[in-house]
Amino acid sequence: MILEFKVEAEDGRARSGIAKLRGKKFKTPVFLPVATLASVRALDFRDLEEIGIEIIMANTFHLHLKPGEDLIKKFGGLHKFMNFDGVIATDSGGFQVFSLGLGMEHGIGKIADNIFLERMRNVSRKGEKWIEVDDEGITFRNPLNGSMMRLTAKKSMEIQAKLGSDIVFAFDECTSPLSDKEYTARALERTHRWILECMESYDKKQAIFGIVQGGEYRDLRIKSAEFISSLELDGYGIGGSLGKSKADMLNILDWVIPILNENKPRHLLGIGAIEDIFNCVEKGIDMFDCVSPTRWARRGHLYVSPSSGGNVENKFRIHIKNAQFRESELPIDESCDCFVCKNYTRAYLHHLFNANELTYFRLSAFHNVYFMANLMEEIRKAIEGNYFEELKKEWLGY
Ligand SMILES: [Zn+2]
Repeated sequence: MILEFKVEAEDGRARSGIAKLRGKKFKTPVFLPVATLASVRALDFRDLEEIGIEIIMANTFHLHLKPGEDLIKKFGGLHKFMNFDGVIATDSGGFQVFSLGLGMEHGIGKIADNIFLERMRNVSRKGEKWIEVDDEGITFRNPLNGSMMRLTAKKSMEIQAKLGSDIVFAFDECTSPLSDKEYTARALERTHRWILECMESYDKKQAIFGIVQGGEYRDLRIKSAEFISSLELDGYGIGGSLGKSKADMLNILDWVIPILNENKPRHLLGIGAIEDIFNCVEKGIDMFDCVSPTRWARRGHLYVSPSSGGNVENKFRIHIKNAQFRESELPIDESCDCFVCKNYTRAYLHHLFNANELTYFRLSAFHNVYFMANLMEEIRKAIEGNYFEELKKEWLGY
C-alpha cells in the first residue's frame, strides 16, 4: 500500500481529508474530471493546472482499444503522454466492457438506465453474443472492428501497469438493476476472486482500490463491504448498480460505508450530479468521477449556482441555446470567478453554441470543470467549518 490518507475534519458523517501518494497529493472530497481517452475533452494541461485539478480519471478500456497501452508506455506512460503531472486514476475496464462493448455508451447511467446493459447482454448480432462472462474473465467483441477480445483480472492490471497510472481499480463485474439476486451473487463471487488476482498481479508502485459490488441487495452489499474491508487495499470504490432510485443509492451507502475501514478513501464510481454529490458527501463519500461536466457542456448545459438561479429542479444548469440568453450581458454564473465568467457574457456563449464554434467547447468545458472543482472546495471548507448542512440546504433547499 502506497497511499496515505488522513481525515482532517468531520461534520456529521461528511469528512474532508488529504491523500498522498508518489510525491503527489489531493484533497477530499474531490471530483475527478474524466479523461476518457487521455484528454479532459476540449481542455489541455494548462487549463487543468489553472483550475487546480489535482486528480483525474482515465479509462483503461478505451485506452486499451485506442491508442493501446504499449504505445502509451513507449511515451513514458499516461502522465508524460498527456503532459499532466497530477494524480491519474484508471478504472478497471469492467464497466466499459459492459456498456461500450455493446456500443451503448450514450444514455447509460449508474442507476436504472443500466437496464440497457441487461437487455443487450444476451442479444446476439448475426447470431453471435457480444459479451460472455465466465469465471476467469469477459470475452467480447471490439466495438471498433468486431474482433473478439478478452479481459481478465490479470490483463486489466497489466494494461493499467503499462498506462502507469497512480491509482488502479481492481477488475470487477458490473451488474445491472435487472440482474436478479442469484445472478448478482454469482457475479459478486467472481468479482471477489478477481480482486485477489488483481492484488497478486498489480504493479506495487501503484495504489490499488477494490470495488464493493452486490447490486441493490443488502446482504450482498454487506458481504462485499466486509470482504473488501478485510483486504490490504489503498482505498475503496463503490460500484455497480446503485438501485432503481436515488433513495436506493443512499440506502446502499448506509449499508456499506460503516463497514469500510474509515482510514481509507471511498470513491463512488460514475456519480456526478450536484444533488447526489451533496447527499453522498453527507454519507461519507470522499471521491467522485463522472463525464458530466464536459458532456453537459458540449450539449449546451452550463452549471449555475443558486445565486444565478441554479436549483434541484433545473439540476443547477442553464441551457445556453435558449433565446432568453441572446442579449444577456450576464456571465454564465455570477458567483463563478473562472476566466470565462470574468471575461464573457451569456450572449457570447449563446452565439458560439448556435454557430457551432470550436471555441464554445473549450469555454464551456472550462467553466463546468472549474465550477465542480470550486463546489468541492466550498464543500471542504464547509466540513472544516462545521456548516456542511447549512451549505447543503442553501444549494438543495433541504
Ligand atoms: Zn465560470
